[in-house]
Amino acid sequence: MKAMVLREYQRPMEWVDTDTPRIGPDEILLQVKACGICQTDLKIYKGEIPPPIVTLPHTPGHEVAGVVVDVGKEVRAIQKGDVGMLYIYVACRECGACLEGHENLCPNLKRVGFELPGGYAEYVRVPAYAFCPFDKRLPFEEMAILTDAVATSYHAIVTLADVKLGQSVLIVGAGGLGIHGVQIAKLTGAQVIVADRKEDALRLAERFGADVLVDSGKGPLEAIREATRGKGVDAVIECVGAKETLSWSLPSLRKGGKLIIVGYVPGQPFPLDTMAMHYNEWDIKGSRLCTKAELLQVIRLVEKGAIKPVISKRFPLEKANEALKELSLGGTVGRMVLTA
Ligand SMILES: [Zn+2]
Ligand SMILES: [Zn+2]
Repeated sequence: MKAMVLREYQRPMEWVDTDTPRIGPDEILLQVKACGICQTDLKIYKGEIPPPIVTLPHTPGHEVAGVVVDVGKEVRAIQKGDVGMLYIYVACRECGACLEGHENLCPNLKRVGFELPGGYAEYVRVPAYAFCPFDKRLPFEEMAILTDAVATSYHAIVTLADVKLGQSVLIVGAGGLGIHGVQIAKLTGAQVIVADRKEDALRLAERFGADVLVDSGKGPLEAIREATRGKGVDAVIECVGAKETLSWSLPSLRKGGKLIIVGYVPGQPFPLDTMAMHYNEWDIKGSRLCTKAELLQVIRLVEKGAIKPVISKRFPLEKANEALKELSLGGTVGRMVLTA
């Protein structure tokens, strides 16, 4: 098969011939039809997620959808020709976290496109357990991005922030993640405030129902306080996770409000004002992808038309270098997707 291979950090990946993976008895072989491009892929490309997580040579890509072309002899419920996406985290299914349904916190997990080869390839091999089927009539490129860009927002907003009808939620960053966060936050019935530096990202957020648009470059804290009549927001969904955005997103919370940290910048700790934490009883939580049950829930919501996956641009698989380049220049709103 053909696959994109990263041999050296910050050097273009190569589109090369490599062995098609051979599946074990409990595995499936998926023919990749689409693979989303995440900011994390850019971090991998730059060498910001080094060994033991990502070892070179590496094939990135963790938002994978496609067609099952082979099944191991112990696989019962999946057949050749089934279409679906991959739950990224191949968890051990034995530890305490797994048994409680928190596969995303499994200490033994291996991830498609990180520790395991990813979807910038014609085929991917995974345990059958990772396969999540969806309605055949839906486009692969839209469904591929559910597994991270959409389900991660769902986990942060619905499960961790537990946003309720009538509350207000601030979404920081209206990129690939945030634009789906806007749609999910609207479904909860909350007032949705979106902050971004880019005018086109804010306009897109408005199209998907954002109630208040805030330019992060122009005194965002004042604008957010004004939008909540001085009270502050009930929850902040930090899709950026940089020192600069946290410096105003955290203080934009009301007393007792929740900050959910979804995006991150490697090696950039954020100083915490412990006195402000004490006086305001703010609740800060990290958010890591989603559980498998949440991904299945998100698939149902997209099948029903309640959430629309937002694709900005499509590239053929072998043009992954061009796609990463464009992402690094910040020139897109919504998710970019590779297609085969
Ligand atoms: Zn990702
Ligand atoms: Zn586990």
